Amino acid sequence: TAHDTASFITLDEQWGAHNYHPLPVVISEAEGAWVTDVDGNRYLDFLSGYSALNFGHRHPALLDAARSQLDRLTLTSRAFHNDQFGAFCRDLAALTGTEMVLTMNTGAEAVESAIKVARKWAYEVKGVEFDRAEIIVAAGNFHGRTTTIVSFSDDPVAHDNYGPFTPGFITVPYGDLDAVRAAITPNTAAVLMEPIQGEAGVIVPPAGFFAGVRALCDENDVLLVADEIQSGLARTGKLFALDHENVRADLYTLGKALGGGIIPVSAVVGRADVLGVLKPGQHGSTFGGYPVACAVGRAVVELLEGGEFQERSRDLGEHLHGRLNELVGKGLVAVRGRGLWAGVDIDPAAKTGREVSMALRDRGVLCKETHERTLRIAPPLVITREEIDGAVDSLTEALHA
Ligand code: PLP
Repeated sequence: TAHDTASFITLDEQWGAHNYHPLPVVISEAEGAWVTDVDGNRYLDFLSGYSALNFGHRHPALLDAARSQLDRLTLTSRAFHNDQFGAFCRDLAALTGTEMVLTMNTGAEAVESAIKVARKWAYEVKGVEFDRAEIIVAAGNFHGRTTTIVSFSDDPVAHDNYGPFTPGFITVPYGDLDAVRAAITPNTAAVLMEPIQGEAGVIVPPAGFFAGVRALCDENDVLLVADEIQSGLARTGKLFALDHENVRADLYTLGKALGGGIIPVSAVVGRADVLGVLKPGQHGSTFGGYPVACAVGRAVVELLEGGEFQERSRDLGEHLHGRLNELVGKGLVAVRGRGLWAGVDIDPAAKTGREVSMALRDRGVLCKETHERTLRIAPPLVITREEIDGAVDSLTEALHA
């Protein structure tokens, strides 16, 4: 069989479901911020698996944790205890300043779990009438791909033709505090939002928005659920994006980087009196909290405890944003984001996101468009200042190529 890019892509298209439209590059190796394709070309990763690779590809400490766990124990299921689960939960709770940890695998599962917990809490603790619980969500949200989650997506591509849909979700404009206030009823269980909307194009809400939501939640006995699956774990320069607002959520959903880009690990972390509504048998997952996940997750927690990645994101993010802002009016019309995370809108008179992504690929930088004219930039947090400069120079060229 031929080992060239075209034949790999043909295989994908012939045998794989067509639910993605990848850039035509076939990666076979990676280390740190760099990946190598099957033809031996090297590229700077400017996407990080949508923030799953915050610590770079194959971080040595994470590989060590995975390897040594593989050599001892992989799976028990939660029918039995294992010697990794409790320590992971303890360390993750300590890192996040929370009281309890519910382990799952994917981001969508963490969000589903948070929705289930919020509803159960509403009926059993708050006293909402059965089957009437409401959850307030934001327009432009992205929380995953399950049937319930796409029920409250307003992106037609994610939503259409997957009905009948799960009821009980109220959509308000993102960042609009008055709309949140107006949407709250005695049946409101939770407000579920991304602290910075990722898929929507790295949308940062107005300052004070989440402090206002927090106050409304407190006044109305409503849970604030922060989906930090993409924004959390050092991506924005702090552990949580919500930390920039000095706001605490009742529940946080975590995923992506929690598994270090090695395996899927997700969790809901938060208040013990809320997660405590779950009793044996009422929720679970065969792999949720399995020993390999816990070992890798614990190593991730250890990396985050040091604060180095948060600091890199903050300092290098300032540099990245400074460089990107120089391109506004010169091919870009807007730059948003925080830390090493940016959404840049391309001048409609210039190129589409796809065209710029392709031109960047040709220059050895991999990132991906979201929607028609927005590029999402999220390099691994191990990237250097010089590498950022090189990539922004390539972007400058790509916008005008
Ligand atoms: N929530 C947010 C904010 C996300 O960005 C994503 C993935 O992009 C998810 C949830 C879903 O995570 P997963 O793809 O692991 O199900």
